[in-house]
Amino acid sequence: MVRIPGSPLLSLLLVGVTLLIFAVDAFTELDVAIAVMYVVVVLLSASIWGRRGVILTTVLCMGLTLLAYGLIHVSIFSGPASGRLMVSLAAIGITAFLALTGQAATEDLLARKEALRRSEAFLAGTQRISKTGSFSFTAPEARMYWSDEAARIYGYPTCQKPTVEMLLERTLPDDRPLVRAAIDQVMRCEGELDVHHRLQMPDGQVKYVHVLAQPTYDQAGRCEYLGALMDVTASVLAEQALHQSQVQLAHVTRVTMLGELAASIAHEVNQPLAAIATNGEASLRWLNRPQPNLDEACAAIGSLLEASRRATEVIQRIRALARRSDPHHLPLDFNAVAEEAAGLVRRELGSHSVSLRLELAPGLPQVCGDKVQLLQVLINLLMNAMQAMQGCAPGEASLLLRTAQDDKGGVACHIADTGPGIAVEDLPHLFEAFFSTKADGMGMGLPICRSIIETHGGRIWARSTPGQGATLSLALPAAADAMTECA
Ligand code: ADP
Repeated sequence: MVRIPGSPLLSLLLVGVTLLIFAVDAFTELDVAIAVMYVVVVLLSASIWGRRGVILTTVLCMGLTLLAYGLIHVSIFSGPASGRLMVSLAAIGITAFLALTGQAATEDLLARKEALRRSEAFLAGTQRISKTGSFSFTAPEARMYWSDEAARIYGYPTCQKPTVEMLLERTLPDDRPLVRAAIDQVMRCEGELDVHHRLQMPDGQVKYVHVLAQPTYDQAGRCEYLGALMDVTASVLAEQALHQSQVQLAHVTRVTMLGELAASIAHEVNQPLAAIATNGEASLRWLNRPQPNLDEACAAIGSLLEASRRATEVIQRIRALARRSDPHHLPLDFNAVAEEAAGLVRRELGSHSVSLRLELAPGLPQVCGDKVQLLQVLINLLMNAMQAMQGCAPGEASLLLRTAQDDKGGVACHIADTGPGIAVEDLPHLFEAFFSTKADGMGMGLPICRSIIETHGGRIWARSTPGQGATLSLALPAAADAMTECA
């Protein structure tokens, strides 16, 4: 029953009808149950007032019915009149009951409608804020429904009915095979859907979306996918920017590290250069003899070429470390990387009276990684250990670089030193940015090592018993388990 609250015209009508019924009932001698007409008053009251108003009106109508009966039949009892009184009272009571029940049901319905409207508005609001739309897809008719936010993400008017063609039209051409495969999967109703793809908007903007959906079945066994569609452009762009700055930061620290190694590197290059000069002079001497000794001259030239190759190799390695390039993940022999890292720092270690021993396990699986970045990690760990051992007594500073197969089938590498170790309270902060116990430390070496190892799908950790040295370890997955780009 729909209420028209506070309508003065209806209230006036109600009073008029009540008075009219009372007048006819009390002052005419009609042999009919006029008071039954009060049901109209009760019904009218239900349209104007609430529960209490209806009850009051009902009581009033019943009271007026009794009053009219009393005015006419106070002295003479009439059986038929009493019967009509009963019928009227019953009619008024039943009508009031039905009107109240109807009113309660209407109010309940209105409350539910309001709650539904509010929850729809709430859902639309949260969808808009979280940039997440919802959709349903029924196979095999390919019937789709989507929320306003989903339409907005795809850049279509909210009133336009979605179709598979519309989805494909917005998808970036490179990603269309991916989306077609997802649609095929949904058509076959084959398990959960989880797809990341890109959209090309009419203004050229590229959006990144993540689609998640699950199949549901109705009673007839028909499959319908219900899902969420998230616009993840902002987080993908932020991730890309973060990755880019991590790469740049890694490069800057690598160049800084090379600066620290400059003296050793100069020496490393100087040695083959000196050998080139010596062998060049020797070959000239063999050739300038009255009887040139060609065999000796050839041998000296061979040594010269060998030295020049060594110098070139060192320079190439340094250039690779100094070059700023995006990481390239390729299958790698980790032991070879460890040997190269050791080769680059051995002289520096030697000049600090630190001995280095390698224990490289044979037959390790290949790892998937960027050689320059892994070199950076190993050099960083070796240099940290060397710096930690600066206060060691002569001959007591030693480093062990050990590789082994880890329990997950990947490669583990442990770098153990005989330095003072790491204080228990420092251990949890070791890989935090800007944590350093050195007066001139930047505290970025280990955080960068961790980010490099984690982007390789591995992990890095430290163990130490203070006073008994520290062991920095890392584990990398075997190439087959690592990221697909180098599978
Ligand atoms: P930085 O070398 O600039 O201090 P790092 O992030 O490379 O920054 O290292 C952070 C801290 O970790 C160092 O200051 C040092 O206290 C500690 N640390 C790293 N390796 C070792 C080690 N082998 N022995 C003892 N302490 C270490």
